[in-house]
Amino acid sequence: MNSINSLAVVVPMFNEAQSIDRFIDRTVLALAATGLDIRFVFVDDGSSDDSVARASARLPELPGSAVVQLSRNFGKEAALLAGLDAALAGECDAIVMIDADLQHPPEAIPKMVEEFRNGNDVVIASRASRTGDSFARRSFTKLFYKSINWLAEIPIVDGDGDFRLLGRDVVEALCSLREQHRFTKGLYSWVGFQQLRMPVEYETRDAGESKFRYGPLVALALNAVTSFSAKPLRIALVVGFAIGTLSLTYAVWIALQTIGFGKDLPGYASIFCGMMFLGGVQLMGIGLLGEYVGRTYIESKSRPPYLVKRVISKGAGRARQD
Ligand code: UDP
Ligand code: MG
Repeated sequence: MNSINSLAVVVPMFNEAQSIDRFIDRTVLALAATGLDIRFVFVDDGSSDDSVARASARLPELPGSAVVQLSRNFGKEAALLAGLDAALAGECDAIVMIDADLQHPPEAIPKMVEEFRNGNDVVIASRASRTGDSFARRSFTKLFYKSINWLAEIPIVDGDGDFRLLGRDVVEALCSLREQHRFTKGLYSWVGFQQLRMPVEYETRDAGESKFRYGPLVALALNAVTSFSAKPLRIALVVGFAIGTLSLTYAVWIALQTIGFGKDLPGYASIFCGMMFLGGVQLMGIGLLGEYVGRTYIESKSRPPYLVKRVISKGAGRARQD
């Protein structure tokens, strides 16, 4: 059993001015019956619209809440970490992370709180179906999870996103991991604790467009694999070994043929193909190695994952529009 009196709601925002008011109204209404002390932590991830002004205008009616404004767009993973850090600095027994675009129905939170009380340290409001997404996006996601689960050593379930309720201990564990290349979905799995998956039907975006394009999604996939496993390097090793063995066998075969039947016509085409193929494989191997070395380089600088421009809380005045 877990006891809970106060709940922090962490909301990353990147140009969500159009939805934020409706999001706050719906969430406050959904949580009213829980009887918990509710505190919002809005993290502005470098929005260029008036998300900060909209959210800070609501602070007087949301006691203990704050808007953490980052100095630029650091990406959702860093924004979530900023939110968790800020939530930990205050009073809270658990934290729920939720998108500002109302794709995550806030009405699911009371049930998540109940499951937390039942002794689950992490309650994942998992996406029950992907009907709202385009066919291309659905296929990409499927391929993403298939490859990541094969390549990375940490299991990641399709549909499990950032809409989760985490106990304070879990948040402390997550915040102690300060890596720059954050693949949060992997980190949740890595920290462990008792987890419960609760299927929830997600909604379509309230306003505006998804911030994730295919480019960043491919980068995310690469990040996911390289942050959690060195398997690709091992695959490169196996491929190299296989090609080496094959060429050696071929060389022995040619030698025997020459001894037995004399000199044959030179095979320019086969030499050319072999060279190109090996060149390609070598470059891929070097590129892959470079990914890992690059990551080590970035991590070795130990830069903070995000920078805070300012924190707006009740009484700090109205935010200026950026
Ligand atoms: N978001 C963010 N920083 C970013 C991109 C997105 O804080 O660089 C926030 C965004 O405002 C939203 C949530 O992360 O609250 C999910 O983003 P989005 O809806 O664009 O992604 P999708 O739902 O399509 O995965
Ligand atoms: Mg969304």
